[in-house]
Amino acid sequence: MSRTFEENLALYAKLAVTEGVALAPGQELLVFAELTSAPLARLIAREAYRQGAKNVEVLYTDPDLTLARYEDGSDEAVEYAPQWLIDGVANAHRENAARLGILSSDPALLSSVVPERVATQSKAQGAARRIISEIITGFEINWSLIGAASPAWASRVFPNLPTDEAERRLWDAIFLTSRIHEADPVAAWRTHSENLEARVTMLDEMKLDALHFRGPGTDLRVGLADGHVWAGGRGRARNGILCSPNIPTEEVFCMPHRDRVDGVVSSTMPLSLRGQIIDGIQVEFVNGAAVNVRAKQGEEAFAKLIATDESANRLGEVALVPHSSKVGQSGVLFLNTLYDENAASHIAFGASYGENLSGYDTMSPEERVAKGANDSIVHVDWMIGSGQVDVDGVLRDGSVVPLMRAGEWV
Ligand code: ZN
Ligand code: ZN
Repeated sequence: MSRTFEENLALYAKLAVTEGVALAPGQELLVFAELTSAPLARLIAREAYRQGAKNVEVLYTDPDLTLARYEDGSDEAVEYAPQWLIDGVANAHRENAARLGILSSDPALLSSVVPERVATQSKAQGAARRIISEIITGFEINWSLIGAASPAWASRVFPNLPTDEAERRLWDAIFLTSRIHEADPVAAWRTHSENLEARVTMLDEMKLDALHFRGPGTDLRVGLADGHVWAGGRGRARNGILCSPNIPTEEVFCMPHRDRVDGVVSSTMPLSLRGQIIDGIQVEFVNGAAVNVRAKQGEEAFAKLIATDESANRLGEVALVPHSSKVGQSGVLFLNTLYDENAASHIAFGASYGENLSGYDTMSPEERVAKGANDSIVHVDWMIGSGQVDVDGVLRDGSVVPLMRAGEWV
């Protein structure tokens, strides 16, 4: 399908509003974007108003202002997060405003900042933003995350190309993985979602006890939470709206039991974390806790991350993605988890998702933990699947069902 860039961008805006947040007529929409994504944010606002939005508010961020705090700010500035602003956003969501995040940040923006400063600011932000993350992980409103190429991001992904060429290539990869190149992108996205949802139903019916990953440097058993529920594709928010929280998405995911993860696991792709690259991760788990953590690159930042709070060294998510997914097919290492987590099976340290536990809404925090849920202010995915990794499902009676061979669904 040959279209101009502008036509593709307009279709992308339409997909984000229609299938991403699935905006309801009369709803407010909050959009979070970097300055460089203003052309896309404007198209999204127009599309949202055409679909009956009551109000569209775009909150722009500027990477230069982020750096200003780290490079010229006092310790007090680095320890501070503006609660009043975060409270305002939380209030909007309590009044049912939908949320769309446009990701385009430079994956290595903070690479020259002292890691302690990054960890301190992230911790302050994490604590202040807790009310927002509870709204999101509790799925109280319809929300979605999409990507947008920026010169800085594109130059990290394609360091050998001139910036404009790099940006064009990254947009192409974004459009490919979001099905924008299809004749009818909205219909194509819906079909893809339905396929993921069928996979979810199949896995739920198997009532698995654990997953077993085997591959080079990996022999990991991930026990699943009691009363776990698989998720993938679209999800229904508690305000009743069926939305696609991530575009693209290729994963089906579940809640690990916070105390029943054992073995060793090796990362299969680098990960971009708070503006730093982490690569060559190897972790040993005992009774759910990471006891031995190494990384060939960025070990200090990774170790700090999983020491953020009491449960940041336990898993909150396990996800299965076939090696041949559209993101894997693109052959691009995006250095952004929204994309890279959809190239391979992965696990996440930190918070689990309420939608992955049956009856979550009616349970006390203690009851959730007893079922295996993990509560933390962090949630960081890292990739452990590849064309060399096999995955088995382990049933309650101990019998084993092959799920993936050489990275593909059996
Ligand atoms: Zn995931
Ligand atoms: Zn995740």
